[in-house]
Formats: sequence, C-alpha cells, structure tokens
Amino acid sequence: MTEVVVLGGGLAGAGAASLLASAGQKVRLLEREAGPHHKVCGEFLSVEAQQDLARIGLDLAQLGAVPIDRIRLVSGRREAEAPLPFTALGLSRKLLDEALLELAGARGAKVERGVRVTQVNGNKVSTSHGDCKPGQLLLATGKHDVRGAKRAAPPDESAFVGFKMHFQLDLRTRAELEGLIELVIFEGGYAGLQLVSPEVMNLCLIVRRTRLAEAGGDWTALLASLMDTPGLARRLDDARPLFSKPLAISGLPYGYVCQQSDDIYRLGDQAAMTASLTGDGMAIALRSAIIASECVLSETPPEVYRKRLALTVTPQIRRAMWLQRMAEVPLLMALALPAFRYAPGLLSKAAAMTRLPSQPTGPARGTGSTALAPR
Ligand SMILES: Cc1cc2nc3c(=O)[nH]c(=O)nc-3n(C[C@H](O)[C@H](O)[C@H](O)COP(=O)(O)OP(=O)(O)OC[C@H]3O[C@@H](n4cnc5c(N)ncnc54)[C@H](O)[C@@H]3O)c2cc1C
Repeated sequence: MTEVVVLGGGLAGAGAASLLASAGQKVRLLEREAGPHHKVCGEFLSVEAQQDLARIGLDLAQLGAVPIDRIRLVSGRREAEAPLPFTALGLSRKLLDEALLELAGARGAKVERGVRVTQVNGNKVSTSHGDCKPGQLLLATGKHDVRGAKRAAPPDESAFVGFKMHFQLDLRTRAELEGLIELVIFEGGYAGLQLVSPEVMNLCLIVRRTRLAEAGGDWTALLASLMDTPGLARRLDDARPLFSKPLAISGLPYGYVCQQSDDIYRLGDQAAMTASLTGDGMAIALRSAIIASECVLSETPPEVYRKRLALTVTPQIRRAMWLQRMAEVPLLMALALPAFRYAPGLLSKAAAMTRLPSQPTGPARGTGSTALAPR
C-alpha cells in the first residue's frame, strides 16, 4: 500500500489523517510543534465545524466546550444583540487540535511531533529529521508556506495582523459573556470576545498593519490605544492575561482560494482562507480534510479535488469578505447598528448568510459506509 504523508497537524491535517487511517490507509503526519500549543484564532466553533468534527468522530462534549447562542455587535457606544441561527461553541484550539491529533494516532496514523518540513520538491519532502518520498502528499501547514510549495500571491487583504490572548475574568464579566460572542468593531480592525471555558475569555484582535503602526507597533501600545473603545474597556479593565505575551500572526491572506494545479492536495488555510469575522475558517479546514480524504481514497487527482473544494467554499468566502469589508466602513456601521437594534432578525440573517453549506451527517461519501465511522 502506498503511504500518504500529511504535512501539518492542525485541524485540516489531523482531520484528514484521522479519516484516512480509519479507512485503513497507511498515513504518516509530520507536525512541527513537539507538543500541545496555542494558535491565533477566535476559537468560535460554528455549527458546520461541529458537524464536520462529528463526521470525523471527535466528541466535543468531552472537551469542555461552552455554548454560544447570541451575537452582540458593538461599534463605539452603539450595540445590537441577536440570537445566532445555531448554537456555536467556544473551545481552546490547544485542546481541540490536540484531541484531533490524538484521534488520528489512535486510529493508526503515524503522528511524528517536532518534525519541521523544510522543503517540498515534487513528491520529495525534506524535513528536520530526514527526507521521504510519499505516494501522495497532503499539504496542511496552515498560513505557513513551505519552500518549494508556496501558494500563489495572496490577495491584497494580506495587510492584516491577528493577535490572541486568553484572560481570567471576574465573576460579573464571566456572567455577562455567558452564551455570547461579542464583535467589537473599531477603526482599522475588530475584536472577537467570547468564553472558551467557564472561566476563560479569548480575545482575538484583527487589525490593519497601518492601525497597529499608528498605535505604536506592538501589542501593549495597541491595547492601550483601544482602551477608549467602550466595548473593549468594559471587558478588559479587570481581566488578568493568562499568557506572558500574546500570540500574533501577520500576512493574513483573507479571501484566498487556491488556483494552483500541481500534484499536491492542499488543505485548510493552504487551500482557502475566509474572513475571520464570520468564524467559519475551521469549518473550511475540516471540510477540506473530508473532501481530500475521500479523493485520496477514491484515487481522484488533486486537480479535481481542488476544483471540488473551490466550488464548496468560494460562495461562503465571497460573502464573508463582503461583510468584513462592510464592517470597515464607519458610516455603514453607524447606519447598521440602529437597524440591527430595531430588527435583531437582520443581524441573525447576516450571521446565517455567511455559513458554509452543511453536509449530511454520517460517513463521508465515497469511502464506504463503515470506513469512516469512529472506532
Ligand atoms: C485572527 C484569526 C481568527 C480566526 N478565528 C476563527 C474562528 O473564530 N473560528 C473559525 O472557525 N476559524 C477562525 N480562524 C480560521 C482558523 O484559525 C483557520 O482557518 C484554521 O486554523 C486552519 O486550519 P489548518 O489546519 O489549515 O491550519 P493550522 O491550524 O494553522 O495548522 C497548521 C499546522 O501545521 C504546522 N506546521 C506549519 N508549518 C509546518 C512545517 N514547516 N512543518 C511541519 N508542520 C508545520 C503548524 O504547527 C500547525 O499545527 C481564524 C483565523 C485567524 C487568522
């Protein structure tokens, strides 16, 4: 049997390795990080992501995810709240990604931690621990390009920087945030605030590079400059940061959908990247894992896989990018907030508009009825 090698053990890579291994495929996964680690992410798990995780066989209830069923949009002193059209979950990526990697290993994938891929040349892979020549290659290294397999130039949206920090909250703020995702829009960016466990809040900040430079160029200066944003100040005043410094990532290629045709199955952020505002990037990563593993098992070439994935995700990404751009226009926000306040159904509709199409539950297509069932 030929060996499939998966590069990167995030949601896309671990999801695919898990599916392939459970179908009896010989699979090896190479992950740069030696152990569990945090990632820049809003940690908002949409219903589509939950459904795809269930199809892969991961039990989210066991991981202590917290439910989120309302959205609050805040801009300046204006705010509007509405029910979400689904129940989302808040969960730390450190827990989630690790659980999926463990599942892949338990199903028979050979998971190699602390192995950095340094170059891809055709189907030859060079790593910090030697070279290999797999039968099939799945590239799932997230936003990080690998030498020899770089993505084509991303769109102009790569001017954003993302930050993440976890905070311990006081009882009052914890109670106020229960069941809620708060999106605080400010000039040059926005923040997503939500609980990821009963005690811990995740703050994910997405700012234009120019806005960051204006604030002084670093996290401390940026945060200080944002404390006059009422929606943030009320949450951060008494919050205690849980990391010594925030996680940060730059060069975010929002709106990217892969057009490259080569012999590699590109998954997750290597294949497409939606606007973070709509919290469906994890769903895209997981969907790419499902479609790619179906294609590998049915010997469907990477080019057909790429087109199939693009058809699935492009409409979502277009709508999400449109909304993200609208949120950057102060006049539009000034008009939208009172409208959402008066008619919360409009805000729920906006949230529903940007979802990835749900797939039927049960094992993924093309792999046999029992092949993908959890063991
Ligand atoms: C600011 C921000 C906020 C977001 N918020 C949300 C949200 O709230 N909800 C949501 O659904 N989506 C969100 N997303 C999107 C989501 O985080 C990504 O789409 C998702 O993580 C993609 O998964 P992935 O497996 O492709 O990549 P990743 O999760 O990044 O995994 C890639 C893996 O590859 C490994 N790797 C990288 N390079 C190498 C190498 N050379 N060798 C070996 N291993 C390597 C990394 O260590 C990593 O484990 C957000 C994105 C950003 C930027």
